[in-house]
Amino acid sequence: MALVDSKKMFEMAYKNGYAIGGFNVNNMEITQGIVSAIAEEKAPLILQISRGARKYASMSYLRAIIDVAVAENPDIPIVMHLDHGDTFESCKQCVDDGFTSVMIDASKQPFEENIEVTKKVVEYAHANGVVVEAELGQLGGIEEDVVGVSTNDIHKHLTDPDQAVEFVEKTGCDSLAVACGTSHGAYKFKTEPKLAFDVIQRVAEMLPEFPLVMHGSSSVLKEFKDLINKYGGDMPDAMGVPEDAISQAAKMAVCKVNIDTDLRMALTAKIRQVFAEKPAEFDPRKYLGPGREAIKDMVAHKLHILGCAGKAAECMHSN
Ligand SMILES: [Zn+2]
Repeated sequence: MALVDSKKMFEMAYKNGYAIGGFNVNNMEITQGIVSAIAEEKAPLILQISRGARKYASMSYLRAIIDVAVAENPDIPIVMHLDHGDTFESCKQCVDDGFTSVMIDASKQPFEENIEVTKKVVEYAHANGVVVEAELGQLGGIEEDVVGVSTNDIHKHLTDPDQAVEFVEKTGCDSLAVACGTSHGAYKFKTEPKLAFDVIQRVAEMLPEFPLVMHGSSSVLKEFKDLINKYGGDMPDAMGVPEDAISQAAKMAVCKVNIDTDLRMALTAKIRQVFAEKPAEFDPRKYLGPGREAIKDMVAHKLHILGCAGKAAECMHSN
C-alpha cells in the first residue's frame, strides 16, 4: 500500500469523534517508535516532517525510512505531511517530493496575504492530488523556526470564527489549524491552561464537517519531565496541555492533534537515565533503544487519549 492523503481519516475522525495524531519524525528511532505503537494499536497515522527535519536528516533518508514503515504496515493508512511550510516554494517542493499532505502556515501575514498564498498552494497541491492544511490566528510558544506570540497573550490571538469561514471559502484548504489556546514547545503556560472550546464550537457550527487541527498540543508528561530533571536536566517549569482537554477537543471538530515535544522529552528522558545509571555505556543502541521504547509506549498512550486506537481499518480508502 502506498502513502494516503488524510481525507478519509478526517471524514471518519469527524463523524466518530476522535482525532489523528500528527507525530513529527527526525530520525529512524523516532519513526520506529511511533510506527510500532501505531501497528500494535491499529491506528491511522500522520507522520510530519518539518523544514528543520528536512535540513537535519535530508529528505531522501526520511523518505526511505517512511517507505519501509508503509511497506511493513499494509493495514495502516499513513500520511506524509509537511509541518509548517512557510512559502509557496517550500510547499511545492514537498508536493514534488511525494508528500500526500502539506501545511502552508502564513498565519503571521495579514489576512488577505494569508488567503493569497494559501490559495496558490491549494491550487498546486490539489492539481497533484495533495491535500492542504492552513493556519489562521496565532499560537504561542516557540518550536524550531516557528515563533509564536508571548504565551501570556495567546488568548488575544485566537482564531476569529467569522474570518475562518471566509478564509476556508476563499482558499479551498482541506483543514485548518486554529488558535484555541494551545502553544508550541515545552514551556506553554505558567498556570494550568484553559482551551477556548467556544472557538472550536463556533467554527464547527459555521463550517459543519470541516476538520480542524490543533498545534502545540503536547502535554509535557510528568513522567518524562521528572526523569529529565532527576538526571541532570533543567526543565523545571515545563508545562503542556492537559490530556483531558485534548480528549475533549478530539471529540469535537478537531481531527488532527500535533505532538512533537512529548516525543522529544520521552527520548531525552530515557537517554539521560541511561547515561546517569550506566556511565560506562557507550553503545548508542543501549540508549537509543530504550528511548525508542519510551516513544512507543508514550504514543500508544496518546492514541487512546485521541480516541484513534483501533480505527485504522475504517480510515482505509476503499479504492
Ligand atoms: Zn505547529
